Amino acid sequence: MSMAAEETKNPEAAAIDNVAAIFGVTGLVGKVLARKLISTPKWKVYGIARAPDHQIIPIDQSSSNFHFIQCDLLNPLETQKRLPLLQDVTHVFWVTWASQYQLDSIECCDQNRAMMSNALDAILPGAMALRHVSLQTGMKHYVSLQGPFDEIEEARYYNEESPRVNPSYNFYYVLEDLLKERLHGKIGWSVHRPGLLIGSSSRTLYNFMGSLCVYGSICKHLNLPFVFGGTKKCWEETCIDGSDARLVADQHIWAATNVDLDDHSNTFNAINGPSFTWREIWKAVAEKLGVQVSEEHTFSEDFWYSKAMADKQQVWEQIVAEKGLVETEMDNLANWDFLDVLFRCPVKILGTREKVDGLGFTVRYKTVDSIMYWIDCMRDEKLIP
Ligand code: NAD
Repeated sequence: MSMAAEETKNPEAAAIDNVAAIFGVTGLVGKVLARKLISTPKWKVYGIARAPDHQIIPIDQSSSNFHFIQCDLLNPLETQKRLPLLQDVTHVFWVTWASQYQLDSIECCDQNRAMMSNALDAILPGAMALRHVSLQTGMKHYVSLQGPFDEIEEARYYNEESPRVNPSYNFYYVLEDLLKERLHGKIGWSVHRPGLLIGSSSRTLYNFMGSLCVYGSICKHLNLPFVFGGTKKCWEETCIDGSDARLVADQHIWAATNVDLDDHSNTFNAINGPSFTWREIWKAVAEKLGVQVSEEHTFSEDFWYSKAMADKQQVWEQIVAEKGLVETEMDNLANWDFLDVLFRCPVKILGTREKVDGLGFTVRYKTVDSIMYWIDCMRDEKLIP
C-alpha cells in the first residue's frame, strides 16, 4: 500500500502536524525520542537504524504512526534506495554516529561526513516540507583528549560560544559545518551537546549505564566489592556532566519546534544541571544494584574494569540464563575500556546551562536520580537483573 493510501485509511493521519525522521532510532536518545513523539497524535515518526531492535517493537505495535526503516547509512546505494520514502518529513533528528574508527581521527571525521552526506543526498531533494534538522554531538566539542593537558585545578565551565580546539579532527565540527553548508540558511537547524549520556540501549558503543549495571550485576553474582576504579581526581571532584536521555530528547523537540529560537544562535549544551561527584553518589548506586561497598574497598587507583572483567563473559551468560533476561553478550551492554577512560579522564568536561535556562527550557535532573530511573528501566526491559 502506498504511504498516501495508508494515511487515508488511518484516521490519526488527519491530526498529524509533524513528521520526524530519527536517524539512530535504536540508540540511547533515539529510542526515547521515538517514544515521546509517537505518544502524541501530532507526530508521525520514521525511525532509521542498521537493524531492528525488539526493545522498540512495542512502539511499532502500539502506534500506526511509527515506521521503522532498516538502512546502513554508510552504504550510499542502500541509502539512496530506502530514504526517498521520507518525502513528507518535517523534522530530522540526527542521533547517530559511525564509530568504527578512533575518535579524533581523520578516518572518523571522513566516515561521519560520508554518513550524513548519504542521508542528506537521499532526502533533501524530495523533502519539500523539511523545517528543521536537530543534530546531536557532545561536550567533547570543547576539549581534545589528545593533550597536552594543563594542570589547572579549578573546573572550567564551557559555554556554547567557547572556541573549537586543536587538533581539529573532531567529527562534531565536520557535522556542524556540513549541515550549515547543505541547508543554505533555508532550513532551521540546532545542535545539542550532551555530557555523559544516561539511558538504556544494547546498541551503544559508549554505554555508561550498560557498563555500570553489568559490572554491578557481576559483582553481586560473585559477591565481589563494587569498586570505583579510577583517579582520585575523578572520584572526588566534579569532572563531567550527566545528561539524561529524556532531557536530551526533550531538548531536541523543544529546539526543533520552538519558532522563537530562530533568532538565536542555535547551539546548546544538553546537560542535567546540578553537578555531582562519583564519590557522593556511589553508595546510593551500589544499594540500588544490591551490591556491597566498604570504605576500604570502594575506591582504587589500581583497579581497571578492562582487566577485572576480561574473563567474565561466561558469568554474564550465566546471569542472563538464570534470571531469564533478554539474550545479550556482555559486550552488547558493557564497554570496559570506556569506563576505564571515563574514570581516568585527564580533563574536566563541564558546561553551563545558562543559555537554555535563559530561553526557557526548564527540564533538569539530578544525575543520581537519572541513574536510579534508568536502572529501573533496564530492569523493566529485562536487560539486567
Ligand atoms: P548510540 O550509539 O546510542 O546510537 C547510535 C544509533 O545509530 C543506533 O541506533 C545505531 O543502530 C545507529 N547507527 C550506527 N551506525 C549506523 C549506520 N551505519 N546506519 C544506520 N544506523 C546506524 O548513539 P549515541 O551514543 O547517543 O551517539 C549519538 C551522538 O551523541 C554521537 O555524536 C555521540 O558522540 C554523542 N554523544 C554520546 C554520548 C554517550 O555517552 N554515548 C555522550 C555525549 C555525546
